[in-house]
Amino acid sequence: MCRIIAVANQKGGVGKTTTAVNMGASLAAAEKTVLVIDSDPQANATSGLGVDAGSLALSVYDVIIGSVPARDAIVPTELTYLDLLPAHRDLTGAELELVSAERREMRLKEALDPLRASYDFILIDCPPSLGLLTLNALCAADAVIVPLQCEYYALEGLGRLLETVEMIREGMNPALAVDGILLTMYDSRTSLSDQVAREVRENFAGRVFKAVIPRNVRLSESPSFGKPAILYDVRSRGSQGYLELAREYLETAP
Ligand code: ATP
Ligand code: MG
Repeated sequence: MCRIIAVANQKGGVGKTTTAVNMGASLAAAEKTVLVIDSDPQANATSGLGVDAGSLALSVYDVIIGSVPARDAIVPTELTYLDLLPAHRDLTGAELELVSAERREMRLKEALDPLRASYDFILIDCPPSLGLLTLNALCAADAVIVPLQCEYYALEGLGRLLETVEMIREGMNPALAVDGILLTMYDSRTSLSDQVAREVRENFAGRVFKAVIPRNVRLSESPSFGKPAILYDVRSRGSQGYLELAREYLETAP
C-alpha cells in the first residue's frame, strides 16, 4: 500500500527539502519504492537529486496545470528505488494559474491516484508558504511530516500550519494524519537546541519523532553534488540521522 507524505512547514529553510530527499533516499535504501515530488518552484529537490531542471521536457507544472499524466514526467535517480517528479521555475506561475482553475486544490491528488499502485512511499517537498501548491500537497497526502529547526522561533507558524491541516481534514481530506514533527539541525554543542527540543516534545507529546537530525555539513554539501547524503557520505551523522528516521518510520507508521 502506498503512503503519500507531504513534507510541509511554511517557515523557510527549516529542512523540508533536505528531509524529502534524504528520508526518500533512506527509505529507498531499505528497498522501498519511493517517489519524491518537487512541488517548490525553487526546484531544490530536483537539483539536489542531480536532475537539471533546465533540460527537462516535462515537470510537475505540466502535471498540475496541463493534465499531463504524472508518469510521463517522472525521471529516475542514481538510486534504483528512488524516482523524482521534478520541478521547474515555471511552477511559480502555477500558483497564479490555479486560482481560477476548477477543483484547484485537487489537481495533484487526481494526478497521483494512478501512481499509488507503483510506489510504497510518495514524499512531496512543499514550498515555504501555505499557498495553493502546499494545499494541493495536503489534499493529495495521507499524512504530513513537519520539520522544525532547533532554533529560536522554531514554533513560529506551527499553529497556523496545524490549523490548516485541521481545516483540510474537516473538508477536503478527512483522513489526513500528522505523522510527526521532525527536529532538524540539532546542534549538540548549544543548549538552545536542547531547550527547543525539550519544549517541542513537551508541547507535542507523542507527535515528535524520536530520531533527531543533527546539524551536519554533509547534509548541506551533498545537494551541490546532486546526491542524497547517503550516496555522498553514508557514515556522516546527517546520513545516519535520516537512516534512523526511516527505520523509525517503517516501524511505527500505519
Ligand atoms: P525552503 O523553505 O527554502 O524550501 P527548506 O525548508 O526546504 O527551505 P532546506 O533547503 O532543506 O530547507 O535547508 C535549508 C538550508 O539548510 C540548506 O542549505 C540545507 O542544505 C541546510 N540544511 C538543512 N538541514 C541541515 C542539517 N541538518 N545540517 C546542516 N545543514 C542543513
Ligand atoms: Mg525547500
